[in-house]
Amino acid sequence: MMQFDERKYEEIKKNNKKAIVLLSGGLDSTTTLAYALDKGYDVVTLSFDYGQRHRKELENGRRIAKYYDVDRKVFKIDLTQIGGSALTDDNIQVPQRRLDEIVSIPSTFVPSRNMIFLSIASSYAYVNRIDNIFIGVNAIDYSGYPDCRPEFIASMQDSINKALLRDIKIHTPLIDLSKKEIVELGMRLKAPLYLTHSCYEGREKACGMCDSCQLRLKGFMEAGIPDPVKYEKYPDWYEEWYEEYLRKTEKRFNIKEREYE
Ligand SMILES: [Zn+2]
Repeated sequence: MMQFDERKYEEIKKNNKKAIVLLSGGLDSTTTLAYALDKGYDVVTLSFDYGQRHRKELENGRRIAKYYDVDRKVFKIDLTQIGGSALTDDNIQVPQRRLDEIVSIPSTFVPSRNMIFLSIASSYAYVNRIDNIFIGVNAIDYSGYPDCRPEFIASMQDSINKALLRDIKIHTPLIDLSKKEIVELGMRLKAPLYLTHSCYEGREKACGMCDSCQLRLKGFMEAGIPDPVKYEKYPDWYEEWYEEYLRKTEKRFNIKEREYE
């Protein structure tokens, strides 16, 4: 059993730059990881194998942690036992809606997911004397999940600290950013965005049609940078922009090499 030495904890706390980053393997969490590392935090990443349809993201998370040479812990919590979400129940389809239809809570909502993740992160933080948790939630270009909003994060931070009698801070560097700004931040921090996986379907290539794919493509398009990951197909508006981009820049984007020529 680990023994707690409060004096030692106070000492570490004085210059505590340790942080947990919740890393799903998507664009937002990877940019958040790049941000925390850029700020000089000593990072451990936590990922969750919750029975998600897009299990592929776990492999991407592994590759991203390896890219940055940071520790990675994977927690298994089988949320398919609860189901009720397109991400945890194979009988529920991932919706395909137009961008302007993304206003209500979709069937991909996994109830309490961020609360469960942050609870486990807080437990890990307590035991390992970590005072900072980074989560890449975003309340601008998002699917409408209520647990991505600042009021939830503030109340969760309050609950964690009441539960633990510690002073743990939940950092949400992306919360007020548009997808365009997230892509720009990721690029500026040289995050390996080509390694990320955002699609809910979890097939080899991204579907290009789910909320997550479309919000992501919109972000890249508005940032003026083609998305480096492979898609089964693009929405019409992205396809049009992409063709125009190639014509204008006379650049070819070499998807195989994942680099700009
Ligand atoms: Zn998709």
